[in-house]
Amino acid sequence: LSFEELNIDNRVLGFLKKYPKPTPIQSASWPFLLAGRDLIGVAETGSGKTMAFAVPAVAYLLSTIGTKKPKAATNVSVLIVSPTRELALQIHENLDDLAKEVNFKSICVYGGVSKDDQKRDLIGANVVVATPGRLIDLVNDGAIDLQKITYLVLDEADRMLEKGFEEDIKRIMQSTDASKRKTVMFTATWPPSVRDLASQFLNNPVKVMI
Ligand code: AMP
Repeated sequence: LSFEELNIDNRVLGFLKKYPKPTPIQSASWPFLLAGRDLIGVAETGSGKTMAFAVPAVAYLLSTIGTKKPKAATNVSVLIVSPTRELALQIHENLDDLAKEVNFKSICVYGGVSKDDQKRDLIGANVVVATPGRLIDLVNDGAIDLQKITYLVLDEADRMLEKGFEEDIKRIMQSTDASKRKTVMFTATWPPSVRDLASQFLNNPVKVMI
């Protein structure tokens, strides 16, 4: 697969051209994700997995809302859930560079810092990268409405389960509208606990292993 074959927005294409070619996980995932399928990606950090789910997220935003900015704090349409603050920030930095190309706003929320700042930041955000605990906290406060989420990524799902986030993930998934969202799961390993999570929340997913 080449970047040109993707048939995506020129600004996204221009952003990708800083790389020589798609990584294997990107080549394997993009056609399915751009076609609207749910997907399980079994891949390690360093494989290019962030762009594997971020490029279709941005393409999907462009095709659904164009370049319209949501005015309310509750209109977020892409959600990425990550096990740690460090990983969430790393995803956000990567995604925000891409999002800015098309005037989308990506924000990052995690625990241990002021909620008020994050609530302000949520205004006009299209994409939220979050750790589970703080996300639920913001949902409970009415600061974010997950019913509007149309593209949801569970990144490092195995690590989230290892860290004891199973109940939090279930609550997050149950706060979304399953009929509206596409769901993507990335994981480094494929134990029964991750399989159970996938069978509960993904709809006829394609599985891609690198
Ligand atoms: P990740 O697996 O998402 O943590 O990505 C690891 C690194 O690969 C990041 O620094 C990305 O900027 C970089 N990367 C993403 N896509 C590509 C690509 N197609 N070619 C080369 N590097 C890439």
